[in-house]
Amino acid sequence: MEPTLPPTLPPEWRDAIARPPPDALFTPTEDRFTAPFWAAAAQGRLSLPRCASCGVWAMPPLPFCAACHAQGHDWPEIAPEGVLHSFTVVTRAILPEIADHLPYVPATVTFAQAGGLRLVAAVVDVPVGRIRIGMPLRARFDARADGVTVVRFVPAKA
Ligand SMILES: [Zn+2]
Repeated sequence: MEPTLPPTLPPEWRDAIARPPPDALFTPTEDRFTAPFWAAAAQGRLSLPRCASCGVWAMPPLPFCAACHAQGHDWPEIAPEGVLHSFTVVTRAILPEIADHLPYVPATVTFAQAGGLRLVAAVVDVPVGRIRIGMPLRARFDARADGVTVVRFVPAKA
């Protein structure tokens, strides 16, 4: 059975290709807690934070583990393969700068190797009418002109 479209997706957007958001509206925050994520992404690797004490995965990394209150993370590299947990399709320019970047699909992605961690990222290069919760995704590392490498996701089976 063909799954139905999300009820809020106007049918005329069904075949539109999901696009990345404008760089100018997305400035990653790199601090001592998130630097390992960005450093790995710049090398085309997906490393995610895990409590060094109890092993609970959490994103974003926090100063104290929510489970055991310990400080400190390790950053295991995992396979750049995830599953779409949830998403929305942005079809209206809520800001003028995004008008040329529609449709935009912010999503949460989970990973078999990273417990219940959910990473927020854009799904790109797929018709929005084909995007489904539970679909397998593959990370893509996009080097931007400003030197930042961002992690985006495309369908695992293109
Ligand atoms: Zn912990």
